[in-house]
Amino acid sequence: MSRRAILATALLFALPLAACGDGETARTTEAASGELNLYTARHYDADLQLYRLFEEQTGVKVNRIDGNPDQLIARMRTEGPNSPADVFVAADAGALWRAQEAGLLQPVTSEALNAAIPANLRDSEGHWFGLARRARIVAYDTARVRPEEVDTYEEIAGPRFRGKLCVRSSDSVYNLSLVGALIEAWGPEKAGEWVRGVVANMARPPEGGDRDQIRAVGAGVCEIALTNSYYFIRLATGDDAGDKAVTERVKLAFPSLAGQGAHVNVSGGGVARHAPNRDNAVRFLEFLTTPEAQRIIATANSEFTAANGVANPPPVGAWSDFTAHPMSVTAYGRRQAEAQSMMTEAGWR
Ligand code: FE
Repeated sequence: MSRRAILATALLFALPLAACGDGETARTTEAASGELNLYTARHYDADLQLYRLFEEQTGVKVNRIDGNPDQLIARMRTEGPNSPADVFVAADAGALWRAQEAGLLQPVTSEALNAAIPANLRDSEGHWFGLARRARIVAYDTARVRPEEVDTYEEIAGPRFRGKLCVRSSDSVYNLSLVGALIEAWGPEKAGEWVRGVVANMARPPEGGDRDQIRAVGAGVCEIALTNSYYFIRLATGDDAGDKAVTERVKLAFPSLAGQGAHVNVSGGGVARHAPNRDNAVRFLEFLTTPEAQRIIATANSEFTAANGVANPPPVGAWSDFTAHPMSVTAYGRRQAEAQSMMTEAGWR
């Protein structure tokens, strides 16, 4: 063994040993090892591109654990102070709020994050930050529906569309957050009426995801459907000829809530309470708000950008010229329990 090899071997063993003394040193060593443990409820392939770019730019390796938001929240709870989670990411403001309520996120003060992300798209104490926007709006059959018939949320639940609405089940976090926003804007009485109207308007019992609702409009099963913007944009701009044909006839309408714009939800993330690699976690969130990362999210996943001053690239840019309701997305979580019981009571399965 050469002298250099002996030295290298000695160093290899010396470092972890030195770290065994106390918790703080162990933490520092882990952070220096350049890892980031990401617990993510985002189910989009586009994100792999983001992780690769972050790894290239920082040398920090991203270890990803996927799950639905409640599975990940339960896992972090069980792991407690030993949780390896650094960042929790979810595709719904309500889920981020639930993680915060469970005490699983820590407040972060970052000038970069506060400057990049508008105040209504993040927690005021920095427990989580919106990183991409999506509108929950209407896909309508242009052969049977005029756009002015779907330019408010009230109309979706009104008598014009009895038996003509397709919508997914009430356990979708997207629907929960929408109803939470309606309660916030209108109060519980009117929101409850709206929920009952939606149930009365269902063309069929809820089944499938948002894309299935859009396709059902295309197939003539219903005249309108509730959907997140990016699912429609993906069908319209993807490779599937059948889906493309659907979006020739089915178009998106952006209804206005209380005259202030369409309901917008966020994908976002926060730093885990016991993050072993806290600095990398903050760096990762900051990275996601850079113009380059924002454009990847928008281009690859068809979400709208969340960061100030980053324009929406094509193809989403073609749908991005709408008014978004300025409500704080923190309301969706606060109203979630109320929304849930309202929907259950009305029989929205
Ligand atoms: Fe989704």
